[in-house]
Amino acid sequence: MLMKSDTPQRDSTDEGTPVSVKIRERLNLARKRFNANDNIAEFIEPGELEKLLDEVEVKMQGVLDSMVIDTASDHNTNNTARRVAKMYLNEVFKGRYVTGPTITEFPNAEHLNELMIVGPITVRSACSHHFCPVIGKLWIGVLPNEHTNVIGLSKYARLAEWVMGRPQIQEEAVVQLADLIQEKTSPDGLAIVMEATHFCMGWRGVKDMDSKMINSVMRGVFLKDPNLRREFLSLIPKHNNGN
Ligand SMILES: [Zn+2]
Repeated sequence: MLMKSDTPQRDSTDEGTPVSVKIRERLNLARKRFNANDNIAEFIEPGELEKLLDEVEVKMQGVLDSMVIDTASDHNTNNTARRVAKMYLNEVFKGRYVTGPTITEFPNAEHLNELMIVGPITVRSACSHHFCPVIGKLWIGVLPNEHTNVIGLSKYARLAEWVMGRPQIQEEAVVQLADLIQEKTSPDGLAIVMEATHFCMGWRGVKDMDSKMINSVMRGVFLKDPNLRREFLSLIPKHNNGN
């Protein structure tokens, strides 16, 4: 009673409402999309992520029960519901629930205007269709101009990790990452190539262990200048015919 003096009535009637319902209400009210690959951090209040974890654990336990797994006697699956809930919320899909990495942008004091390539950056994600791992690499090409902001090389990897840490569709993931880098640095040109193995192809479905999906986004001068595009692609080891 003493602790919740700001909104005592609302809290007492809210008691039974699952925290996921409260978060969804806020999202709907703000007319914000909450697809699998959207970040919803700004709609989660302090302490709610822990409650969300408890909620997912209970639901996950329901899935195990429905799969007729005796989690009470089976020591291997005893705590699986909790482990899976933690893995989803705090690890592999963390990019939905936490705010983006803090990136300090600096003015381009050296007036760098040469093609810069960052990579390979390891990609760890999962597909939205099956929640199966998507593991691969990506390369980022940036052509700065004098007005472009400069960010540290490791920051590209942090941004990529945040975007990939959500259930994703490879085509949408690279676009989300491109939008983010574009917004942070405003370069003349931006190119991203991603190459990944989709475990839903190897573990189930066609059971093809070797197939990889490669896709790219090209922005600005990379779209207009075929030579620049060629230079970028030739500098990426895997895409170099010589290798
Ligand atoms: Zn899939």
